Formats: sequence, C-alpha cells, structure tokens
Amino acid sequence: REDEERCDFLFKIILIGDSNVGKTCVIQSFRSAEVTELQHNTIGVDFTVRSIDVDGRRVKMQVWDTAGQERFRTITQSYYRSAHGAMIAYDLSRRDTFDSLPHWIQALEQYGAASLVLVLIGNKCDLEAQRQVLFEDACTLAERSGALAALETSAKHHHNIEEAFQLMARELLVRH
Ligand code: GDP
Ligand code: MG
Repeated sequence: REDEERCDFLFKIILIGDSNVGKTCVIQSFRSAEVTELQHNTIGVDFTVRSIDVDGRRVKMQVWDTAGQERFRTITQSYYRSAHGAMIAYDLSRRDTFDSLPHWIQALEQYGAASLVLVLIGNKCDLEAQRQVLFEDACTLAERSGALAALETSAKHHHNIEEAFQLMARELLVRH
C-alpha cells in the first residue's frame, strides 16, 4: 500500500516470443529477484507487478505473461493493447526461436502502440555450450527493427534480468 502511494509511474510491459523460450521464468525471476525453482507452465498468470527504483524515481512495472497462447500464435489484440513496452524473447540455444522474431515484431507493429519500447531478450545464456544465435545477430536485428537494445539473460541464474527491466523503465521515463 505504501508502495502504491509512492509510485509516480505505471508501465505495462508485455512478454512475447515462441513457446518455451523462458518468458514465464524471466517474469518470475524479475518478481522474486531470486529463482529457486523454475516453473514449466504458465497457469493463469495475468500479470506481475513490481516497483523498481530508476534514478531515484519509483516506477511500477506491470508485467504481462501469456497463458501459453503463443504456442498456437493466437495471442489476441487485447494483450497488446495499451502496452508501453514489449520484450520479445528467444532461446539462444534454439535458432528457430530467433528466426521467429520477425513474426513477433510484425505482430507488435500490427497491434501495439507506435510509441512502444521494444527490447530483444536472448534468454538461457547459461546454455553457452549450446548457443545457436550470435549476440551480434541479435544486435543487428535490434537495430533494424528499431528496438532499444538486445540483451542476453538467464532467468535460471537471474542474470541481466534486472538490467533488462531497468533499461526498459529508464527509456519509458524519458518518453513519458
Ligand atoms: P515460456 O513458454 O516462454 O513461458 O517458457 P517457460 O518460462 O515456461 O520456460 C520453458 C523451459 O525453459 C522450462 O523448462 C524452464 O525451466 C526453462 N528455462 C527458462 N529460463 C531458462 C534459463 O534461463 N536457462 C535455462 N537453462 N533454462 C531455462
Ligand atoms: Mg509461459
């Protein structure tokens, strides 16, 4: 409650990308700030709210997860509605999930706000030995698609998760 009073900004962030890339785990990692157990399914999670400090300002991040609709690419328009930011995630140990990014970028262009801030997330960077996507390629795509940045994360080890949301929040503050 005290948290709510202190909040000056509220941003809606959506997570999209292929099934199994770790979207739910990224959100859980962000929520708990320490992952003890990875979950295998998204069960009725609508969104997670966490307040973070960005350069001394209190920002509330409302992070939306899918309930697995991405498996059939049936995410509805309402999921995208009024989102301030989007993270498109892929699994850097599975090339096909990176090759899907244009599909997700196109969905954002179709359904998302024009002012939406986009960050590309290469998750599972703990699986370095199985890497199938170069970070360079993600950076190139980020540049081409007008994304703010490409980042590699590990939800499993809570690596770069805070950084990803901080980066997003900082840019949203600049624009709002
Ligand atoms: P979603 O379908 O995109 O929401 O993916 P989930 O969050 O359900 O994760 C799919 C699978 O990837 C699960 O078995 C997770 O345990 C695993 N996973 C998620 N994040 C990571 C990660 O950073 N590293 C590793 N090695 N596995 C992960
Ligand atoms: Mg999920």
